Amino acid sequence: MLAYLDHHATTPCDPRVLEAMEPWWSSCFANPSSRLYRPALEAAAAVEIARERVAAALGVEARAVIFTSGATEANNLALKGVAEAALERGERRRALVTLATEHRAVLDPLQWLGLHGFPLTVLPVQPDGLVDLQRLEAAIDADTLLVSVMAANNEIGVLQDLQAIGRLCRARGALLHCDAAQAVGHIPLTMAELGIDLLSLSGHKLYGPKGAGALLRGEGVALAPQQHGGGQEHGLRAGTLAVPLLVGLGRAVELAMADLQERGARLGALRQRLWDGLEALGGIRLNGHPRRRLPHNLNITIDGVEGGRLQRRLRRELAVSSGSACSQGSPSHVLAALGRSPVEAAASIRFGLGRGTQEAEIERAINAVAAALAELRSTP
Ligand SMILES: *Cc1c(COP(=O)(O)O)cnc(C)c1O
Repeated sequence: MLAYLDHHATTPCDPRVLEAMEPWWSSCFANPSSRLYRPALEAAAAVEIARERVAAALGVEARAVIFTSGATEANNLALKGVAEAALERGERRRALVTLATEHRAVLDPLQWLGLHGFPLTVLPVQPDGLVDLQRLEAAIDADTLLVSVMAANNEIGVLQDLQAIGRLCRARGALLHCDAAQAVGHIPLTMAELGIDLLSLSGHKLYGPKGAGALLRGEGVALAPQQHGGGQEHGLRAGTLAVPLLVGLGRAVELAMADLQERGARLGALRQRLWDGLEALGGIRLNGHPRRRLPHNLNITIDGVEGGRLQRRLRRELAVSSGSACSQGSPSHVLAALGRSPVEAAASIRFGLGRGTQEAEIERAINAVAAALAELRSTP
């Protein structure tokens, strides 16, 4: 049986989430914007409950929540929306700052803005994946419009010091956007305490449905819509609300907040067991900071094996990700930013543990890697 240890790629929808979504597909199908009859008002009320749940998880008011199709769309709305709003009001600030280890759903919209009059600085990270705060401070000045730093990295699980980064941004009057797709529902996070102005999240990374997410916007942050039409979401994201998906997102967030501490502690112990077992095999290096990382993440580089052979050897037993980013085959830009060569990146494995992960799967993963290494290292 395949051990699924790729929870950073996506998580299974929790059965309790499925149950919550069920009535909203067929029996309660009304459009929440059709406010003239009861079923539509009920759908609107269900969406508002979801909105409150998402808002409560991040310590903000419900009106901060803009529902989207996921974190990719939320990032695009945040980054392009802030830039366009700045243009509209003749703002002098234009510069954008981010880190080399951000998700492509942040880097690509920022690079697009870079080609359209918003100078972009992409800062390197240290070998442990953390940004040097002095270097970041030096990069933020009176021209900086926005800084985008993710809460938890999707490959190496590294947690940037958002509180310190938030302080730097505030001191210089720059906005802080945070792609928190891997953090919400996994580690405690509150927007105001961390000084985050805009935060992106995704349903399918926290045991909710694919195709639902949100952008949370702090008070007074000017944003221009990137999708025009029916005026939903205060005119910031037009399109009929995906009621079942949003109900599922709200329920998933609620459930994730309820078992966050317990799950983190349990998975942290399993991750430790996994690391101990793998490290004992020899020639294994950890990618990312040893402690400032998600409790359910482990990312390793294995010396002395060819990446392609390793992945082929493992794939019948383990669903894990390799250092070839997102199955596109090109070497991971995150591992490259840590100083890993393309050959080392290919011989890397990302493990993402999750709510359903049991000890037996961890033992199976250790045994699978041990067997693969014994074979591959003896037959060069
Ligand atoms: C998965 C992920 C995304 C993309 O989210 P979607 O909801 O699939 O669009 C963006 N950023 C990070 C950090 C992610 O892990």
